[in-house]
Amino acid sequence: MCIFCKIVNYEIPATIVYDNDDVIAFRDLHPKAPLHVLIIPKRHISSVNDVVEGDAAALGQLFVAARAVAEAEGVAKSGYRLVMNTGAHAGQTVDHIHLHILAGRAMTWPPG
Ligand code: AMP
Repeated sequence: MCIFCKIVNYEIPATIVYDNDDVIAFRDLHPKAPLHVLIIPKRHISSVNDVVEGDAAALGQLFVAARAVAEAEGVAKSGYRLVMNTGAHAGQTVDHIHLHILAGRAMTWPPG
């Protein structure tokens, strides 16, 4: 079982900030911004490369959660960045699809 599936099953600790039937969001262990939360579907999907039509509703929930987290954390107005890394060149290190929400400082563009 992957490390994020273990978080979904409450088998390893995480600081959970949002949780419903489809998705769970928790603080990143190594935050890259004052706010750094990961939002994941509870059902295992390795990466965007594995997404199928039937995943659409659960993946849509990632954005519903992102909006809720941004509001709850007080960054909706100041702004935030949503990132989903896919594969080696993008730097994906955990093979369970996850949406990063980063906020609390000005972001640069383009990313490195
Ligand atoms: P990515 O590089 O896009 O695959 O992002 C994976 C993220 O997961 C990194 O930012 C890690 O810091 C984070 N991470 C890895 N293990 C954990 C964990 N057990 N709890 C919280 N965040 C984690």
